Amino acid sequence: LIYLDHQATTPPDEAVLAAMNEANTRLFANPASPHAAGLRVFSEVERVRDLIARFLDVRKTEIYFTSGATEANNLAIKGIAAEHPGGHVLTSAVEHKSVLDTCRSLEQAGHPLTVLPVDEQGRVRPEDVAAHLRPDTILVSIMLANNEIGTIQPIREIAQITREASVPLHCDATQGMGYLPTRAPDLGVDLLTFSGHKIYGPKGVGVLFAANDLTDRSPLRRLLHGGAQERGLRAGTLNTPAILGLGAAVGLLDHRAASQLTNLRARLLNELAGGGARFECNSGTDAGFLPHAVNLSFTGVDAQQLLLDLTDVAVSSGSACNSSSQEPSHVLRAIGLSDERIKSSIRLSIGRSTTEADIVQAAASLTAAVARCRR
Ligand code: PMP
Repeated sequence: LIYLDHQATTPPDEAVLAAMNEANTRLFANPASPHAAGLRVFSEVERVRDLIARFLDVRKTEIYFTSGATEANNLAIKGIAAEHPGGHVLTSAVEHKSVLDTCRSLEQAGHPLTVLPVDEQGRVRPEDVAAHLRPDTILVSIMLANNEIGTIQPIREIAQITREASVPLHCDATQGMGYLPTRAPDLGVDLLTFSGHKIYGPKGVGVLFAANDLTDRSPLRRLLHGGAQERGLRAGTLNTPAILGLGAAVGLLDHRAASQLTNLRARLLNELAGGGARFECNSGTDAGFLPHAVNLSFTGVDAQQLLLDLTDVAVSSGSACNSSSQEPSHVLRAIGLSDERIKSSIRLSIGRSTTEADIVQAAASLTAAVARCRR
């Protein structure tokens, strides 16, 4: 099977598996236990916290471990909102559901919500952010890069606007980690979240960065009640195998390796076009988009049928999180695509171990499957 669904999840790296195995066997003690075994694990967790803080160019005390990006997004958004009842929240129409639905749940609870539209490439216009900020705005949440079409958002420009207005900015960086620069001070964000399993790390672990500048002024409200872990913000025994695995994954990240992926993606599109599988591109392939992913529509083909027909290549229709719902993608809707085109869309995402031969074979299989579906 040729795996071209790295935006849904990535295979854990060997170094990640080794770190997790070590944590599950030798370093199994509770990091909160004050005996030697616990202290040893505690120091490993803190080493990873330090590594992530350096990677994001922030302080160690600003890093919180969670069960994934979904929880980290919920914690960032609800954590702020709970301390500011009735405050206005601003987000975009192309956010991941863990942001969009969290914001919608706040709206139900009395927080006015603005969901900004995007342009036909899926980009938020910074001037729209400026125009919709209100005196009662308590949070802006805009992702770094989109999980369905790969659009990179102008976070730095948006951050200039939110900074000037003294409104906290949250950025879901899940899809950008390892592909784009993610130093929080450079981006200008106050809150940043990401997930382990999109970066060749374990599932079930994520990170929230929350700037001390922000939390000193107004602490985040915890979601879970219980122990005092994570400076009281996130109760529950730490998932140390996943955290140590995450450390190994972050240690391997290098966004400068992106050009290799860009070349493979170009090859994929060339092979598909050369093979005669007519398609329309729903995402851009220039610098404004993730280097490893592309979203395509094959007119007249039902994507669900195509996926079933395509037995030797793993791709996805829409985002994996929503694949059980029959609703057309809210992201493709937001960029103005017809239902017809949305229904015939698939997402392909290349990974670290994808080879040129994989690309050639995947394109041939996809071309044949498209032809069968069109017949
Ligand atoms: N945000 C984005 C942009 C994502 O792509 C995903 C994963 N599909 C998430 C959040 C949720 O991450 P997790 O699976 O760790 O909860």
